Amino acid sequence: MIKNFIPLSVPNLKGRELEYVTQAIETEWVSTGGPHIDKFEKSIAEYLNVGQAVSCQSGTAGLHLALRLCEVGYGDEVIVPTLTFIAAVNPVKYCSAEPVFMDCDDTLNMDLNKLSNFIEQECEFKNNKLINSATGNVIKAIIVVHVFGNLIDMERVIGIAKKYNLKVIEDSTEALGSFYTKGKFKNKYAGTIGDFGVYSFNGNKIITTGGGGMLVGTNENLVAKAKYLSTQAKDDGLHYIHDEVGYNYRMTNVQAAIGLAQLEQLEDFINVKERNYYLYKEKVKHLNGIEILEFNKGIRPNFWFYSLVINSSVFGLTRDKALISLQKLGIQTRPIWGLIHEQKPYKKNQSYKIDKANHYLESILNLPCSTNLSEQDVDSVVKQLASLYKRGDQNV
Ligand SMILES: *Cc1c(COP(=O)(O)O)cnc(C)c1O
Repeated sequence: MIKNFIPLSVPNLKGRELEYVTQAIETEWVSTGGPHIDKFEKSIAEYLNVGQAVSCQSGTAGLHLALRLCEVGYGDEVIVPTLTFIAAVNPVKYCSAEPVFMDCDDTLNMDLNKLSNFIEQECEFKNNKLINSATGNVIKAIIVVHVFGNLIDMERVIGIAKKYNLKVIEDSTEALGSFYTKGKFKNKYAGTIGDFGVYSFNGNKIITTGGGGMLVGTNENLVAKAKYLSTQAKDDGLHYIHDEVGYNYRMTNVQAAIGLAQLEQLEDFINVKERNYYLYKEKVKHLNGIEILEFNKGIRPNFWFYSLVINSSVFGLTRDKALISLQKLGIQTRPIWGLIHEQKPYKKNQSYKIDKANHYLESILNLPCSTNLSEQDVDSVVKQLASLYKRGDQNV
């Protein structure tokens, strides 16, 4: 039996969660109506400095709504990253559209040079439509993911999207709280720049509602429409008149009650994550063959996940062996996601010069990053890493 198990990422519910959930239960507002939902939406909108936010059952549901509102449908294509969680891409298929997979760069976000090259060399821009030369289909949108809370260069993304009439969906499910500190989008939060931004409150995200999501967007009418679609597209609630096919995607009041208490702690969570990030970075510095991946300059990241990059020939151990050894020592880590273009449902889809993603697929290990992680926990993770360390400086 392992005495001090250190999990990868667990929720932290030590705020007013119980108090707010108790209110929801005592007032018997437990379903998709109730004051906590409205308050949670309002609080998120205020935090992000946007007009309106629409709650959802999950981030995946939010992405589905965003794609529908971008009018992505049968026969359309959407440019997506291959190195991300598969929920960023599945909603493209829900819309009967097809993804085109892009590589990542050294930030783990989509490689925007390759994106430009793909558009310029493999597509044609005709009648204000971007046509994929290989398939003859229209590319309608790009989904960018701010991987692990690191921000992609939205100035460039928006530039490309404007030029080729593409909608932009920011999958900000990992990046609630990250914002730019420089440039054109200074003080703008992840998710508030593209046509739509989507957040997730799944159990491992920076704040959680158990399960849940939120959608924001730059066009207020379309955000209002998202709410309409998420609540079964009721045109007349009394007589059950529905002019469109809607969804049952609205968050429950109990989830929102948890979310409200979590949001109160978001900045504290970010502070802890930031402190532990720099602790790891400093302590790992003395070990050859491993390093903690940097966040981009000119941003305040939310420091959601920490990526250890292992150069196995120097470190003396492959990533997978390191993972298994750490597991035996009671430390839970995980490899990065399997590339989506190689997953069974997507093998036949087009991918463009995937290269870097293969490298990071093999070399990244995500380290424990919960907000209850103490300085001693970080110390013990790095000590165990050092004990695995086979060559180089042995004095650590
Ligand atoms: C978590 C996550 C999602 C999905 O969010 P859910 O709330 O779990 O549906 C989508 N995309 C990325 C990149 C994620 O990390």
